Amino acid sequence: MSHKLKVGELKEEYLTDEEIWRIFTVVLTSQSVKSSTYKYALIKALIENLYQVNDEFELTYDQLAYSFTKVYWNLIVQHDLVKQNRGKNARVVSIIKDIQVKHQIPADFSFDKLNVQIQVKLIAEVKATMKQNVYGALYGDTRGKFYAFEHKSEHFKLNPAVHSFMLKYQRLIVNLTNYHMAVMIEKLNEVPSTNFLLGKVESIAKRSSLRPFEKVLLNHFQRTCFYCGKTLLNGETKTHVDHFIPWSFVQSDQLWNLVLSCQSCNNSKSDKLPKKNFLNYIVDRNNELVTREEDDVASLMTNYKDKKIILLYDYSIKNGFDRIWSPKSN
Ligand SMILES: [Zn+2]
Repeated sequence: MSHKLKVGELKEEYLTDEEIWRIFTVVLTSQSVKSSTYKYALIKALIENLYQVNDEFELTYDQLAYSFTKVYWNLIVQHDLVKQNRGKNARVVSIIKDIQVKHQIPADFSFDKLNVQIQVKLIAEVKATMKQNVYGALYGDTRGKFYAFEHKSEHFKLNPAVHSFMLKYQRLIVNLTNYHMAVMIEKLNEVPSTNFLLGKVESIAKRSSLRPFEKVLLNHFQRTCFYCGKTLLNGETKTHVDHFIPWSFVQSDQLWNLVLSCQSCNNSKSDKLPKKNFLNYIVDRNNELVTREEDDVASLMTNYKDKKIILLYDYSIKNGFDRIWSPKSN
């Protein structure tokens, strides 16, 4: 059975968008008895790490396990969903419930608020479960065409064609994945309706606080708004951390996509893309960050390349983020 696989080689490197869509559609909509929410969580983890791949399109098991654990923690603990334990398929549910009970963690604690030791312990356990039940299963469902993996060396490599496909259609894929995940959860649990669920599923990858990033940025830059240049103090000029490319598109929090901003810029920018000249500014800003050797920055800028944020900007326009914003004072 494919989910028992320990190694999976990439079966076909050259795929057209049409072929990838066909496989995706089957994976997302298949309602086999063995289906679990795992495949959706893995797809969400992949999307969250799309911009974290290295030049070989590789990701580590730890990166994927981090995102995967976060999705489930927020789903199970914060939103009290996925109650039903379906034997082996829901091992992740038991792991998370056990730790929550053992450490008496209140339900309103989102994953990123947990202390680091608990996070590390959880991620390690979830990573082991992913080896047993997740990578092989989705590899089989995608007919070995989406990624290669090897448990022993914890090596994971996305098919470059699938990587660029996911960038190109990211918004659609996110919406489709959330929708089908909500439908599946609804089937497994007694919940009011899919609409009720969608809102929750859409936000499960979200962080509760970007404060740690604010600290890092303040260690290296002045306390001014990236967009309008105002000094950040309090009230209207209170310090906010803003996703340069909107979170609703990126679906992840990367230091190189985060800037300090004032409240009024942050509010009026909302879900829009900043004007193109700001793209040059953030590229310059990131180049400065890359040269810093302090630990707090170096690890957060791993695998960053200028072309990533430039591509991301172009892809977000292609994905329908075509409302361009610039600050009032500019
Ligand atoms: Zn501002």
